[in-house]
Amino acid sequence: MSAIVKCDVCGQICNQSYLNAHKRLAHRKLEAVAPHEPEIVQAIMLLYGQLSEASQEIIRARLLATGMEAQRVASDGEPRERRSRERVQ
Ligand SMILES: [Zn+2]
Repeated sequence: MSAIVKCDVCGQICNQSYLNAHKRLAHRKLEAVAPHEPEIVQAIMLLYGQLSEASQEIIRARLLATGMEAQRVASDGEPRERRSRERVQ
């Protein structure tokens, strides 16, 4: 009756009628987090606005450090290495 389809998220083969249930169960984490994000951002901004100028500066420095760390991990060697190799040649 229903076709056999592939989950576009993980590639698992399943019955089309089961696909939505599979996505809801197997990939629940992604869906569960996203809808609340605007409220979380709003709450953080509200709290941030209540901080003193000095504390806001500490928060900004920490966020910046976190962002730089994430960037370093994401690009982990490869592009930077390639760039320096190109520079050498
Ligand atoms: Zn899946």
